[in-house]
Amino acid sequence: MAIKITEECINCGACEPECPNNAIYEGGTQWEFNGQTFGEGAAAPSGAVGFYSNDFFYVVPDKCTECKGFHDEPQCIDVCPVDCCIHDPAHVEDEAALLAKKEALDAIRN
Ligand code: SF4
Ligand code: SF4
Repeated sequence: MAIKITEECINCGACEPECPNNAIYEGGTQWEFNGQTFGEGAAAPSGAVGFYSNDFFYVVPDKCTECKGFHDEPQCIDVCPVDCCIHDPAHVEDEAALLAKKEALDAIRN
């Protein structure tokens, strides 16, 4: 996962358009992966759960590469006005894993 959004989020929406992987969704909206949509309670293909939020913006772990392959720094962290985009210690991935995820996402991007 690498990045998660905390409940400090003020729902400004600044991060969503900056994400090169379309990994950020507004609270209460369904997320998309490989042509399928998922809602509250759905597990990501990797089995990750608990990232969905009805109340604030959230990051889909299987779609976040920490911006590896696109930018030097996570764009959501750069633009967030309240610093609520943070590295998630529960979902640590090294650079090789993040770049492999980016390549896998490239293969299904449309
Ligand atoms: S770190 Fe990059 S890829 Fe991950 S959610 Fe933030 S903007 Fe999207
Ligand atoms: S930029 Fe920060 S405060 Fe704004 S929607 Fe994204 S996570 Fe929430």
